[in-house]
Amino acid sequence: MSIAIPSSLVQNGTGIPDVCSRHGQPAALRKPVKFWSKPPVWSYFLIAFGALPFLIVTLVIRKEVRAEAWPFCPECAKLHKNRLIIGIGLMLLFPLSIAVGGSFGDAGPVLILVALVLAFIGLILQSRGTYRVLPWGFTSRDGSTVDFPKAHPQFVAAAQAAYAQAAQQYAAWQASQQGGHGQLPAPYQAPQM
Ligand SMILES: [Zn+2]
Repeated sequence: MSIAIPSSLVQNGTGIPDVCSRHGQPAALRKPVKFWSKPPVWSYFLIAFGALPFLIVTLVIRKEVRAEAWPFCPECAKLHKNRLIIGIGLMLLFPLSIAVGGSFGDAGPVLILVALVLAFIGLILQSRGTYRVLPWGFTSRDGSTVDFPKAHPQFVAAAQAAYAQAAQQYAAWQASQQGGHGQLPAPYQAPQM
């Protein structure tokens, strides 16, 4: 399931549920997480001009939404640990293959090349296990929402409940503000986001 949570509710924490987005399990730990927008398709053409122009442009146009305490369940923590250990293990094969490659004769270069490929896979695996990437959330291009394209149904339900509660609190706050000016409380209104 997918859900888009208003960025303001991710930043102030009121729109963040108590379950993780991957497994829908209750949070066992909370970590600060930065959600980034995906680079637009055209930016990849800049790679033809080198990695630096691509990096500069994506950094400049990237939208960032920061959550102070994002929920992670024990499954998430296990996933993080496993990907980190296996990823680093695969990456270490490369320097190891260089150290021992010479004693394998003609097979040495092949061994080093295979180790390089495995090290690259390890790098990707390790990066996919970071607490920033594990929730699989992306800030929208205009920065107004954080989108979760593959969220657990339990997370979606909890996020909707958190949103409804935040909207209610906002309406109550708005009513109290207007009440302070001697006006009638405003009817329930969804926040403008
Ligand atoms: Zn989880």
